[in-house]
Amino acid sequence: MLRFWFAIPLWQRVIAALILGIIVGYAWGPGAESIKIIGDIFIAFIKMLVVPLIFFSLVAGVASIGDLRKLGSVGWRALLIFIGTGQMAVWLGLGIGTVVQPGAGLDAASMSLDAEALAKAQDRQENAQTFKEMILEVVPSSPVQVMADVNVLPLIIFSLLIGVGILMAKEDGEPVLKIFESGSVVMQKVTMIVMELTPFGVFALMAWVAGTLGLDALQALGILVFLNYVGCLLIIGLIYAGMIKFLARLPVIDFFRGIIDAIAVSYSTASSNATLPVTLRCARRNLGVSNSVASFVISLGATINMNGTAMYLGLATLFGAQAYGVDLSWGDYITISILGTIGAIGAAGIPGAGLIMMVLVFGAVGVPLETIALVAGIDRIMDMMRTTTNVSGDAAVATTVAAMTGEIDTEEMISADDV
Ligand code: ASP
Repeated sequence: MLRFWFAIPLWQRVIAALILGIIVGYAWGPGAESIKIIGDIFIAFIKMLVVPLIFFSLVAGVASIGDLRKLGSVGWRALLIFIGTGQMAVWLGLGIGTVVQPGAGLDAASMSLDAEALAKAQDRQENAQTFKEMILEVVPSSPVQVMADVNVLPLIIFSLLIGVGILMAKEDGEPVLKIFESGSVVMQKVTMIVMELTPFGVFALMAWVAGTLGLDALQALGILVFLNYVGCLLIIGLIYAGMIKFLARLPVIDFFRGIIDAIAVSYSTASSNATLPVTLRCARRNLGVSNSVASFVISLGATINMNGTAMYLGLATLFGAQAYGVDLSWGDYITISILGTIGAIGAAGIPGAGLIMMVLVFGAVGVPLETIALVAGIDRIMDMMRTTTNVSGDAAVATTVAAMTGEIDTEEMISADDV
């Protein structure tokens, strides 16, 4: 029985749970709320991952910038493109979410069980913080307290500082760096264990959503999925294609033909890390990117370059704000854009990482964390497209930087016909 269960790929189990959850919830009606507890347990495990995952992977990520310096012009170009395109992606998600308003038709507050979160969101709106309070709140005056409270903003600042400290300590910092690198790998494994709970969580959450909110909710979630795909396709079709055409000055069609294997693997695994060997092979063999640039930019990109995830964090935050009637100011938009980019950097290249990073952005702008329960059921379908976007981005940046620094063999690329 167990062997049979694990023989089915996780994503297929999740999609089956999604469909089954909708059917059961719809047939059951409001009574389906009684199984929401299973979904809550799943979300609680996700929340458990937030602090250690952000802490280990951000510190390790910042410290790896030291290697970027070694690579000189390649490293800085890649980093600039990673951050620049990340910003474009979040604003694209924010733009789509503002225009289409995917969460507007949903009255999530009426079914909310998390009265405390809602009260907090309302309180935040009524008693807007002064600038002074805001600044003081992001200073990690007590790092342990910050972790205990899952207070993500000061945690990010603390992690960035530790990363910089490791860089400054050079050889003396190496043992500490090792701990963070290995901690980040361990946390990825723990995340994978938690992700095995996804089919059960998804089943319960979808039954709850379908049973209590009915078709309206399913329609709103359907629109969110659709917009996630639109946003990702725009990133690939405009930002990446533009980069290849105007910065790298290479034929766009040949580029996409060259990475077709990576696209297929990323879509089915929903993991940038798992796709890494395929992305590397495509870049070297089909696109003619030099070994050093490919291995450096693509392996770094698999951890920190996640534009699909960045776009989705912007879009999903607006979805939650609209569903729960939380008003967002311009300041909040800027906060989301910064945290969306940092969240994408901090997200590991594994299935469901984007879901975990929602805690970071939602908490900072007062969107109830219960939104995560609302969207968790459909996350896998969106994750597959986000990951394809993330992986295509790694290949696009590697190709562009290689073209700009003369590290590409274009003969190889043009001959991509026989891929
Ligand atoms: N699964 C994605 C990746 O591996 C990250 C995410 O969840 O958005 O790139």
